[in-house]
Amino acid sequence: MIQTRGYAAQNAENPLGPFSFARRDVGAHDVLIEILYCGVCHSDLHQVRNEWGGSIYPMVPGHEIVGRVSKVGDQVTKFKEGDFAGVGCFVDSCRTCPSCQEGLEQYCEVHNVGTYNSYELDKKTPTYGGYSSQIVVDEKYTLKIAPDQDMSRVAPLLCAGITTYSPLRQWQVGKGHKLGVVGLGGLGHMGVKLGASMGAEVTVLSTSPNKEADARALGAHKFLVTRDEDQLKEYRNYFDFILDTVSAPHNLDMYLSLLRRDGTMILVGAPPEPAPVSGFSLISRRKRLVGSMIGGIPETQEMLDYCAQHNILSDVEVIPIAQINEAYERMLRSDVKYRFVIDMATL
Ligand code: NAP
Ligand code: ZN
Ligand code: ZN
Repeated sequence: MIQTRGYAAQNAENPLGPFSFARRDVGAHDVLIEILYCGVCHSDLHQVRNEWGGSIYPMVPGHEIVGRVSKVGDQVTKFKEGDFAGVGCFVDSCRTCPSCQEGLEQYCEVHNVGTYNSYELDKKTPTYGGYSSQIVVDEKYTLKIAPDQDMSRVAPLLCAGITTYSPLRQWQVGKGHKLGVVGLGGLGHMGVKLGASMGAEVTVLSTSPNKEADARALGAHKFLVTRDEDQLKEYRNYFDFILDTVSAPHNLDMYLSLLRRDGTMILVGAPPEPAPVSGFSLISRRKRLVGSMIGGIPETQEMLDYCAQHNILSDVEVIPIAQINEAYERMLRSDVKYRFVIDMATL
């Protein structure tokens, strides 16, 4: 076993603190990654605080992992020692169900093994995430990262990047489309960058008036403060697509009213509480309300390559790991610009 240092939550109430644990030895198909940076996703906070239920403790969160390969198993072909590598939200899946065979492992119909707060395929070995010094992952579930990039700014692509890229591709958002992005946080700011790069007219719908200049710098063409319902009235029947990244309960009907006929609202935010939707919000102009979860391995690689090619990186605030609990509090106050990333050298 490989002794590993990390930060863990021992339960839903107390702050995260130092934690030591063992990773499996490097198997024939595995790579050992020395973690350089790990992004801080709002899903980490939801799970640490058991907001979705079923949390497994101790929990070492983190699923936006970038590092350097320090050892490879003898059957590994994709990586060699010294390569940069990434790990996202899952580290294994059944590999045989229709979703896995289509490269949509995130929708595995048997068992998708989360990077943390989950169990391996044996259903009893807990998984520990990227707030740690190193990780062992099967190369099939490990992403290639182009060198010569600021790796702290690449890390958030592994979740925030793919979660916004995948639905934009699925719904073929691009030139001629009006895209609204609700919530300018980790996911939202990547939605803005990616949507704009694909040619859409992007409008940020935010509760924070002080984010307007940033939104425009990120590539947004318009900025609306959602607390001002009068301003919103002008945008009824306006958007072709709305990408909803909000992490807390909010009024879905209000946003649906901004869609035009046959428009689509894509939910990626995952507030713990259910939200009511009026049937009239959908039926009156034949609208769609859909969801999307991260992306599969092939599409995640495609997204990383796309971002490297188009010079798209996350805007980050790099923090030492000792500041993680404070970072969670700031995230709850929507005070993130626009992703916290842990520098693992501070562990
Ligand atoms: P984040 O950085 O905290 O951003 C969320 C943003 O939502 C905030 O910055 C804020 O933006 C807005 N917001 C917060 N509270 C709000 C409220 N009460 N009403 C309206 N807007 C509000 O979070 P994140 O990491 O981007 O994650 C967002 C959500 O996506 C989380 O629920 C997370 O679990 C989920 N998620 C889903 C997937 C998936 O696969 N579908 C993947 C990753 C994360 P403004 O200040 O601009 O209003
Ligand atoms: Zn995430
Ligand atoms: Zn499967």
